Amino acid sequence: MKNIYFFGECMIELRSIEESLMRQSFAGDVYNAAVYLKRCFPAINSSIVTSVGQDNLSDKMIGVFAEEEIDTEFVFKHDTKIPGMYLVETDDVGERSFTYWRSDAAARYTMELFNDDAIAKLKCADMFFFSGISLAIIKSELRDSFWQMVWQLKDAGVQIVFDPNYRARLWASVDETKLLYDLALQVSDIVLPGIEDFNSIYGHTSFDHVKTFCKPYNIKELVIKDGPNGVLVIYDGEETFIDILPVENVVDTNSAGDSFNGAYLGSRLTGRSITDAVQLAAKAAGTVIQYPGAIIPKEAFDSIRQ
Ligand code: ADP
Repeated sequence: MKNIYFFGECMIELRSIEESLMRQSFAGDVYNAAVYLKRCFPAINSSIVTSVGQDNLSDKMIGVFAEEEIDTEFVFKHDTKIPGMYLVETDDVGERSFTYWRSDAAARYTMELFNDDAIAKLKCADMFFFSGISLAIIKSELRDSFWQMVWQLKDAGVQIVFDPNYRARLWASVDETKLLYDLALQVSDIVLPGIEDFNSIYGHTSFDHVKTFCKPYNIKELVIKDGPNGVLVIYDGEETFIDILPVENVVDTNSAGDSFNGAYLGSRLTGRSITDAVQLAAKAAGTVIQYPGAIIPKEAFDSIRQ
């Protein structure tokens, strides 16, 4: 069985339904990607590496992971911290706004709960995935232990995958982001940037800008996304551009990149070509954006399941 580990944070999501009424669910970029990978490829072990608390909602979160058939072996339980939470509100003209309570969430302390046994098990993985958000939330005093672990995994032959998902408010400064992204790009075998994210950090506006910027790094597979404007993949220096069929009825682009990542990595883990992987990933993302929320109804993936 192929194995992929998603390192990061899952949060409690509250979504405003109407005045004084909210719907509660769970979401977070790496969790979303883990779910969509599993929905597309049930035969792959999709595992989340994170920390939750000892509270009831943490138990409920683990229950939802299990319902989604996500492996929870590396879900640690912090003694005193609890999960982060966010609220999504939609105004009269359909504009969404997000409010977060996550500054001291349990997931920030995952590296504290890791031990050599856990790292030894992760060394048997096929892929280890982390994102710009995973990086931003690691407590600064635990960053060194994170990089040490990632390099140990890479040396053991695990493919390291990075999505430079950028959330400005999680960083002290853009310079800090640049410093950490440089370390991430140095260690990664597969990188899945969106042009929009690189625009906010480096001012990039085109596939060429991102491609040129990434050239000095030893990235085997660079997958550059740009919403409906196509995907450019550079694998071992060879370029493939794949068009995307724009979706007319976009309801919510939340999780577009995450579902793309899940379906793409599942495809690559099961030996699909780059073109087939992008096409399945675009189909998954194109479906997700036609529904509200990060995690859409399971039935919507019936025709995508492999
Ligand atoms: P990220 O969220 O990582 O920045 P993008 O916004 O580029 O990624 O979106 C990820 C993927 O979602 C795209 O590569 C594409 O497959 C799909 N997607 C996003 N917006 C649209 C759209 N309007 N029509 C069709 N597909 C889309």
